[in-house]
Amino acid sequence: MCGIFGIRGHANAAALTQLGLYSLQHRGQESAGIVAYDNGRANGIRVMGLLGESFGPRELAQLPGRTALGHTRYSTTGSSTIENAQPALVAFRGGHIGLAHNGNLVNATELRQDLEANGSIFSSTMDSEVIVHRLARSHATSPEAKLAEAIEGIEGAYSLLVLINDTLLAARDRHGWRPLAMGTLDGATVFASETCALDIVGATYVRDVKPGEVIAVDASGIRTIDRGRNNPLHRCVFEYVYFARPDSRVFGGSVARARRALGRRLAIEHPAPGADFVFAVPDSANAAALGFSEESGLPLELALIRNHYVGRTFIQPTQAGRNAKVKVKYNPVREIMDGKKVVMVDDSIVRGTTTRGLVSLIRAAGAREVHMRVSSPPITGPCYYGIDMADRAELIAAQRSVEEVAGEIGVDSLGYLSLEGMLNAVPDGPDGFCHACFSGQYPTRPPTVPPGKCTE
Ligand code: AMP
Repeated sequence: MCGIFGIRGHANAAALTQLGLYSLQHRGQESAGIVAYDNGRANGIRVMGLLGESFGPRELAQLPGRTALGHTRYSTTGSSTIENAQPALVAFRGGHIGLAHNGNLVNATELRQDLEANGSIFSSTMDSEVIVHRLARSHATSPEAKLAEAIEGIEGAYSLLVLINDTLLAARDRHGWRPLAMGTLDGATVFASETCALDIVGATYVRDVKPGEVIAVDASGIRTIDRGRNNPLHRCVFEYVYFARPDSRVFGGSVARARRALGRRLAIEHPAPGADFVFAVPDSANAAALGFSEESGLPLELALIRNHYVGRTFIQPTQAGRNAKVKVKYNPVREIMDGKKVVMVDDSIVRGTTTRGLVSLIRAAGAREVHMRVSSPPITGPCYYGIDMADRAELIAAQRSVEEVAGEIGVDSLGYLSLEGMLNAVPDGPDGFCHACFSGQYPTRPPTVPPGKCTE
């Protein structure tokens, strides 16, 4: 997963991009970068880790210009190197290309092999680099026609921001897998993965980039190519469940409202009569727990506290290390838990590591019964379209019944929201969403190389 942000026509383009990326840090913490274009020159800076830790006034001073785009990259199982950080920046016969990609391409390996057979030399293992090469090769005359040509035949999920000299381009795949919003600020045009990034820079939301659309912004204005007619939508439902920030609107719907509705529905499908209270695994399940509380009438308690200063430095490769990480990240409030029958709401269970650790912490804090409620269905397969979901073998629910998962994580009862319940709770549901990780209904063939892995 990644976050992307771009702006054209503003004197503080790079600084605003940095600000926007702060709001998209949750979409990627592995690396970050900004590219800016100024009078025939393009400059780029990419760093490993969090944006705030390595991007300061000195870096911004090296990024002059009125057009900029940026990227935050999510940790995947693939190689975490500076070569794979984005945005990509290359010089070609027509000037400069910068590119930031959110999503995962399904046929990147074949496309890359074709390009390599024709002499292309790749500098990263990212699937996105394929698009850079195809852009550079295109003989189409306008920047938007170049991008439309470059993405023709590419399968999978992509929301893209591209800079060709001082033209800023935005595109979404025909199925609308990943979000991308457009806004305006002081006459400049802004694009961002989520509207919370428009808010932070003070931009006004205009509309979403449409599935299949290519938009070009340059000195003469905004032009669009609409490539998306009559395509089935595969918007990622997990954006609503977990990934996006609750203060964002994605796919035209409020994430906070979606999560609250998921929680309400969960309370209808899996009530917990006789429990004393409900609490969230903060922060991603806060809104779902609120919805559960409203619907069930159980009081909502702030019974679990999250430490916000636990960064990626604490990642431990061993299982023992992972359990220790849970303890560093979360602490129950003993005075609230002690002697109580509690309902713990989380948005999802992936490997089960967090949940297992939490349940033992909560029992150690005195909870008498622990009833877990999950505001999405069991995750039974990996995501091929841009969310790092672990391999199938690591997914706790892939080979187990709900009862077996309950036994594994040590809860007194476990209730997952049904697929139908989830799809009916999210805005503009139930149709037009990709739910492959829950249902196994993959809209494409699997990629030749597993998501997040290197293509070499
Ligand atoms: P796990 O311990 O693997 O079951 O992780 C479950 C927790 O991770 C839940 O609290 C989710 O909010 C969160 N989560 C869900 N999906 C992801 C993801 N793709 N990457 C990181 N964390 C996730």
